[in-house]
Amino acid sequence: MELKKRINDILNYSEECAVLKNILLEVTNACNNQCIFCANQKMSRKIGSMNIVLAQNVLQQAYDMGCRQVGLYATGESLLYPQLEKLIKISKKIGYQYVYLTTNGLLLNLKRFIKLQQAGLDSIKISFNAVDRKSYELIHGLDGFDIVKENLVSAFQYKKRNKLSIKVYVSYVSTKYTHNVEEIKTFFSDKCDEFVIIPVRNQCGYLPEIKYLIDETDDYWMSSQRKLPCRYVFDTACITWEGYLTACCTDFQNYLVYADLNQQLLIDAWHNQIIGRLRDEHSKKMLSNNLCAQCVLNQKNIEPLCEKYSTKQDISVINSNIMKRINELSLHTKK
Ligand code: SF4
Repeated sequence: MELKKRINDILNYSEECAVLKNILLEVTNACNNQCIFCANQKMSRKIGSMNIVLAQNVLQQAYDMGCRQVGLYATGESLLYPQLEKLIKISKKIGYQYVYLTTNGLLLNLKRFIKLQQAGLDSIKISFNAVDRKSYELIHGLDGFDIVKENLVSAFQYKKRNKLSIKVYVSYVSTKYTHNVEEIKTFFSDKCDEFVIIPVRNQCGYLPEIKYLIDETDDYWMSSQRKLPCRYVFDTACITWEGYLTACCTDFQNYLVYADLNQQLLIDAWHNQIIGRLRDEHSKKMLSNNLCAQCVLNQKNIEPLCEKYSTKQDISVINSNIMKRINELSLHTKK
């Protein structure tokens, strides 16, 4: 599936009926990067990995409901999940037409890429968010520029040489300090099948530091923020590593969890009253005090949909390490 179309479909969603089209499995919420625009490093929820039996069970249920696409990622780095290739094979065996994932690429050496491709992966998207080494270090929180660039180039060359159908994509999250479109195009155009530039977003409001990375006076930044209705609420089932069903793949603290799939069938959970109310709020564009209101309207004092599944966190606490890196990035890119 074309990358730009997929992103565009997410941002310009207008249907409002609950039909399951896509499932996202948070195979792990652990990560080996600390990107300045990602709330993973502030997450206080327990770190863990998905039980593969649960994953297989949920995948089969979603398939039986008509779902044909599965993304094997959410809030963490999927290549840290040791059973990833096995899960890709399971997904293809069940019958999924499109199996995809996003990675920061740090562990994507050629051997791993070949394993993923041979398991049946249809596309891999590398989150690569700088075109020079110093900016990369400040943004990703580690000196991985050369490794990830090498991994990207090797994977793309390998797939081209062997005429493989797997797509190698890049997403570049743009900040006001690193938004040189021509430089980005020049850097990525010969290194992947397709790349997209995505304006940095507020991570459902979990990361107030983001306001220092966008230009609030510029239409480009403001028009790209999340709008209502949000498609995740209507057509995507996001499953956390614990086996909870949440409305959002960037629900770092489980504030939008509406069912426990260890206890309930997906088909029943997908239509329960809690998500029904949230869908109704999205349709009417009248959100109450939930995470979506924080995400779209910047509303404060929000509450989880179900307290028992969430880990409460005061999001207003600013991370000094992120702020230090943002300041360094502003100085570095001025040079
Ligand atoms: S928090 Fe709600 S509105 Fe924001 S991306 Fe997630 S589901 Fe969509």
